[in-house]
Amino acid sequence: MHSWQRMGVRLLGGLLPLARPWVHPEMHEDAAAAPIESAPLPPLFVVPVRQHIGESAEPVVDVGARVLRDEPIARPQGYVSAALHAPTSGTVVKIEEHAIVHPSGIGMRSIFIEADGEDRSTGGWEGWPDWPERDPAELRERIRACGIVGLGGALFPTFVKLARDPRHPIETLILNGVECEPWLACDHRLMVEEAERIVAGMAILRHVVGAARCVVAIEENKPDAAEAMERASIAGGLHDVAVRLLPVRYPQGSERQLIETITGRQVPAGRLPLHVGVLCVNVATSAAVADAVLQGRPLTERVVTLGGEAMPQPANLRVRIGTPIDFLLRRQGLLDLEGIEIIQGGPMMGERVLYPEAPVTKGSNAILAMARRPVEPESPCIRCGHCLQVCPAGLMPNELAAHCRNDRFEQAEAFHLFDCIECGACSYVCPAHIPLVHYFRYGKGQVAAIRRARAFADASRRRSEAREERLRREQEERAARRRSRRPAAGAGVEERKQ
Ligand code: SF4
Ligand code: SF4
Repeated sequence: MHSWQRMGVRLLGGLLPLARPWVHPEMHEDAAAAPIESAPLPPLFVVPVRQHIGESAEPVVDVGARVLRDEPIARPQGYVSAALHAPTSGTVVKIEEHAIVHPSGIGMRSIFIEADGEDRSTGGWEGWPDWPERDPAELRERIRACGIVGLGGALFPTFVKLARDPRHPIETLILNGVECEPWLACDHRLMVEEAERIVAGMAILRHVVGAARCVVAIEENKPDAAEAMERASIAGGLHDVAVRLLPVRYPQGSERQLIETITGRQVPAGRLPLHVGVLCVNVATSAAVADAVLQGRPLTERVVTLGGEAMPQPANLRVRIGTPIDFLLRRQGLLDLEGIEIIQGGPMMGERVLYPEAPVTKGSNAILAMARRPVEPESPCIRCGHCLQVCPAGLMPNELAAHCRNDRFEQAEAFHLFDCIECGACSYVCPAHIPLVHYFRYGKGQVAAIRRARAFADASRRRSEAREERLRREQEERAARRRSRRPAAGAGVEERKQ
């Protein structure tokens, strides 16, 4: 478990009168009252070619190219992929590997844009105020062209989620305004300040998937956000939208848990929300959809919370994608990183920022600065069962971790390793300080590697069998040709006798 994860978090009261218990972090809402401000533009932007689940985008600009803001700079490759657009005007000075936020410390091919300071835009595409008359497929294509991905952290290309499947009609659209991790406030502020944008996106999404019912889910510690969303829904003519206030608990914002809370339906393992008739979209994604359709604006910025106990000035900043994290830290007065841990995302599911020069990407909802603490030593499992009590996926984290730690991956899979959403609730409550989530990540990585190696070996075997089969066939054909050319035995003798 990361040292910061114990920060100010406690498990309250054991089991709640709910289907399953939850953990209840202290929320640390330092940034919740900070209005959204625009961050200044850095002199150099770094745009990694993969900022979503799926295939990397392929650059469509060369070094030396002049670009304008909103201009496409990388196109999606394959179906599950998303386009990238220039975050400002300037010159492409390099396309090469650069540090990104990743636990392994790996780099990513990135497009470097030196800003010219003019911040000129192409103007994007034509806005479609007449969207209700347009075909859902056309709207979906616009959302795809604008590079919209799930901004709540899932980073799934949004247009893929919006594909209609006649076998699974979407009945309920859930707008996820639940920020269940401490310190996060970007969605909260967006709902308070820009509820109209979110509601406009909700109306478009509803039209695209044909949902009969819309629910906005917000935790009850954000009454101002609920009020703003309710007001904007009514003003936008969406009188049947239900704004649901939910108890503050973790990991409520996780898609599967939220769907269960709102609809009572569980998304079975290996299935998607659409299989239970639900589409779940983060509020910031909804606002980005409104920008794409109503104004033709691609996704080139997002709201980021700058917070954590060691952040001198907590803030919510509208940040262009590709802005280096250390540029933002300096803006907030954090100059010396000695003894400080920088985390992207919340303290429960976030990732350590190993290289502060890594850029903000579409998934960067928060940058937190936490005091570094010694990691508590791991001790043997005392089989207290706390981890079982808090697991939202109903798993047995202690057993699962033992299998992963001892490389018993088949057993780990039998214990539903891949149903783990890596929420960290189990690590959190473990009195033995066992870094359970780390074992699950290790196990998943190893299983994925084994599957890849198996697939590679299968493909090699199939290729080798096909080659042998081809050689055998060719040999048979050659033999047949030779036989057909050779005179029949005895025929020549008969001819000579005559
Ligand atoms: S919480 Fe920790 S000590 Fe308790 S059963 Fe789970 S793994 Fe073992
Ligand atoms: S096993 Fe996975 S899903 Fe369950 S509490 Fe632990 S991290 Fe969360």
